[in-house]
Amino acid sequence: MGHSRFALPSRSAKWSRLQPTCHSKLINYQTTGPADSCWLEPVMTDSVLQATLNVTEASQRDWDVLVIGAGPSGAIAARQCAQGGGKVLLVNDQKLPRDKVCGCCLNGAALEALNRIGLNKLVSDCHAPILENFVLASGQQQVALPLGAGVSLSRQRLDLELTQAAIDAGAQFLDETRATLHASEKQHCSVMLNHSQSEYATRARITIIASGLGRRVFSNRLADERRTNRNSRIGAGAVLSEVRSDFKPKTIYMACHRSGYVGCVRLEDGRLDLAAALDANAVKQAGGIGPLASIITNSAGLPASDAVAAANWRGTAKLTQSRATVYGDRLFVVGDAAGYVEPFTGEGMAWAIASGIAVAPLALQSLKVGTTETGPTWAKSRTRLLGGRMWKCRLISQLLRRPKLVKAAAWGLSHAPGLSRPFIRSLNRPFPELRS
Ligand SMILES: Cc1cc2nc3c(=O)[nH]c(=O)nc-3n(C[C@H](O)[C@H](O)[C@H](O)COP(=O)(O)OP(=O)(O)OC[C@H]3O[C@@H](n4cnc5c(N)ncnc54)[C@H](O)[C@@H]3O)c2cc1C
Repeated sequence: MGHSRFALPSRSAKWSRLQPTCHSKLINYQTTGPADSCWLEPVMTDSVLQATLNVTEASQRDWDVLVIGAGPSGAIAARQCAQGGGKVLLVNDQKLPRDKVCGCCLNGAALEALNRIGLNKLVSDCHAPILENFVLASGQQQVALPLGAGVSLSRQRLDLELTQAAIDAGAQFLDETRATLHASEKQHCSVMLNHSQSEYATRARITIIASGLGRRVFSNRLADERRTNRNSRIGAGAVLSEVRSDFKPKTIYMACHRSGYVGCVRLEDGRLDLAAALDANAVKQAGGIGPLASIITNSAGLPASDAVAAANWRGTAKLTQSRATVYGDRLFVVGDAAGYVEPFTGEGMAWAIASGIAVAPLALQSLKVGTTETGPTWAKSRTRLLGGRMWKCRLISQLLRRPKLVKAAAWGLSHAPGLSRPFIRSLNRPFPELRS
C-alpha cells in the first residue's frame, strides 16, 4: 500500500493542505503532540477501493444475485453468495471508503459471527482496539463497567475490508451507482443502475436489499413504505481528529440525558468517534445537533464539550423503523433496511453481519426454487435470529427516556458493578442460529 506522509506545522496549514487534496484518499492519523491532548497527524494512504467493472459492463450481464448496498449486511451477503458459486454484483452508491453515522463498536456477537465465516483476521489486521470498559455517565454520576468483548473500528475501514472480502470471494463491485428496483418478472428482477446521471438497466435472478436505514430503493413508492416509531429519536455522528487525552483508548463513554445520549470511542487510528441518538424536538430547541450533543456530554461531566458542539455532525432518519415484510418476489431485505432499533446497546452491525450470513444460503437456494418458500423462511429465520435481541434493545431505549432511572442505575452499578455482567454477556452472546 502506498504511503505519503505529511508533517504539518500548524492546524490551519493542516486543513488548508488536506481538504483540496485528499477527497478520494483514506486518511489515517498518527498520535503526536502535547500530553493533555492528542494531536492527530494525518497519514495519507492510497486505500480507495476500485470498482471491479464499470456500469456498462454491469448492465450487459445477467446476475444471479444483485446486492444493493455495501455496508456490513450487503458486503457479507455478497461474499457468502459468491463463495457459494453465485454470479454476484454488489452495488454501492458511494465510493469506499466513506463515513457512516455509527458508534463503530463491534460487540462479541459480531466478532464471533465474523469468525464463523473466516473473517476474524480482518479485524485484527486493522489493529482495531479491544474494548475494555464502558463508562456510563449521567448527571455527573459516572460508573465504569468492564466489557467482556468487542473492538472499535472505523466504518471507513470496516466496510472497505468487508467489500474487499466480497471481491476476493468472486463478487463484482460497482461503486458510485444508485440501484433502483423496478419490477420482479417471472425469471428475474429489473434493476436500474443510476451512474453519473445516466441510467442503465440490468437483470438479476435474486436481489438482496441491504441499503441501510430509510433509503429508497423501489421505483414504486408504496413498496418502500416503512413503519416509523413516532417517538423515535434521530441518529447523528461525527469524528473528531483532535482528541483530548481524557478520552482513554479501549473505552466507550456514554453520556445519557433526557434528550438523548452521546457515545464516544477512540478508533483504530486514534480519532474520536461520536455517535448519538437525539430527540428531534430537542435538537431544534438547542439550535442544532452539535449544541445538543454538547449539552448532553457537558451535563454528564464528559470533557471537550466545545469540540463536540463544533464537530461536523451528520444526522439520520428516525432510528426505530421496520418494514411490513422482509421479502418479496425474488427479493430479500437485510440489515437496517429490514428494520432497526435505537443504537444504545451497539448491536446494529452484529445484526447486519448475522443477517448477511443467514440470508445467503436462502438466496442461493432461491436460484433453483424461486422465493415462494424461501421468502417466508427468511422472515421466520430473521425473527428467530434477531427478534429477541431487538425487543431487548427497544425496551432499553424506552427505559433510557427516564433520566431518574438511568441515574439510579448508574448509582447502583457504581456500588455493584458485577450486576452489569449478565447484561453485557447477553449482548456479546454469539448467534446460535448461525451454527446450523
Ligand atoms: C448513531 C448510531 C450509532 C450506532 N452505533 C453502533 C455501534 O456502536 N455498533 C453497532 O454494531 N452498530 C451501531 N449502529 C448501527 C449500525 O450503524 C447499522 O446497524 C449498520 O450499519 C447496518 O448495516 P447495513 O449494512 O444494514 O447498512 P449500512 O451500513 O447503512 O449500509 C448501507 C449501504 O448501502 C448504500 N446504499 C443505500 N441506498 C443505495 C442504493 N439505492 N444503491 C446503492 N447503494 C445504496 C449506502 O450508501 C451504504 O453504503 C449505530 C447506528 C447509529 C445511527
